Amino acid sequence: MQNCPLCASQNLRTVFTVGKMSVFPNMVFATAEEARTAPVGDMTLTVCDDCGFVFNQTFDESLLDFNKKYDNEQKHSAYYQQYLQGIIDLLRVEVPEAKKVAEIGCGKGHFLELMLSQGFDAIGFDPTYEGDNPKVVKDYFSDKYSTENADLLVMRHMLYTVMNPFELLHTIAKANHYKGKVYIEVLDFDWIVANDSFCDICYEQVVYFTRDSLASFFNKSTVGNLFGGQYIYLIADLADLRHEYTPNPKGGKHLQPNFEANVAHYQNLATQHAPLAIWGAGGKGVSFAHLIDAGKGIVPCIIDINPSKQNGFIAPHAQPVLPPQTALAQVGKFKSIFIVNPNYLEEIKKDINNPAIEVLTFA
Ligand SMILES: [Zn+2]
Repeated sequence: MQNCPLCASQNLRTVFTVGKMSVFPNMVFATAEEARTAPVGDMTLTVCDDCGFVFNQTFDESLLDFNKKYDNEQKHSAYYQQYLQGIIDLLRVEVPEAKKVAEIGCGKGHFLELMLSQGFDAIGFDPTYEGDNPKVVKDYFSDKYSTENADLLVMRHMLYTVMNPFELLHTIAKANHYKGKVYIEVLDFDWIVANDSFCDICYEQVVYFTRDSLASFFNKSTVGNLFGGQYIYLIADLADLRHEYTPNPKGGKHLQPNFEANVAHYQNLATQHAPLAIWGAGGKGVSFAHLIDAGKGIVPCIIDINPSKQNGFIAPHAQPVLPPQTALAQVGKFKSIFIVNPNYLEEIKKDINNPAIEVLTFA
């Protein structure tokens, strides 16, 4: 691909490359062999200097099969629960008229169930849904559902899965007759750059947004941050979705991450503190393990509190995912634990509760 998928500019700059990343960073595999042979893809993270859009130039859609079982819920954490409640509180203030809500890409339906439990007339759409809640339609939201007429469409962490999110937004807005409001939530690439957070770069994340680049999709919107600054939210009228993509005037030249230097820094740190267990088998932990361990065996295991991930293996280096109690009982297997999401630091420190184990996180 030689052009920006949104503005067609050729003024592109590669800021980070990673070879052979797990294509499904949120999946754990039943056996080490399956994890070792799971699909991998290359990341060529590219910034369009003209419009500030960020995307993986070597993304290969044929590697993805979203019908596969994957699990990106973090519902077992109290911090995460508070953050979800914060979204509902925000929606009550910003979109008080929202009674009928459609959540597009509702995953396991956890946020949908929270909305239902708090009195919203909510319906979810997700072809990968595996539960039995009749309020979830196992399908993509499209013209087929144009009679839904929702007051509010919720799109949490789903707009990053396609190379042209502007087009996807139009497909979805059209199915709701360009009426009502939309709540969009995505990772904040400005936060990722400011923190040199290379482990947020995952294969599943095909594109990345800044507040400016996301807001440029609409004539007007309310934009803010949540989840300790890591996520952007945007609330807008669907009627304000621009007909034509209008590049954000700030462009992308200011996006100058130093990911490679930071990877080298944490590789050194990990070597000094090896063997090093990683806490968190989500996208961040899987990217971190891949870049830091690189098959050298520095990272013997991953720890996670999500029971559906425990006792599986992550790709591509096949480290086992252990429940905290099992991992913490294996004295000598690792010297230190690295927490990949500092938002959970205090919560995890309480769980570890062992002064003999060094606890590390991003400085
Ligand atoms: Zn562009």
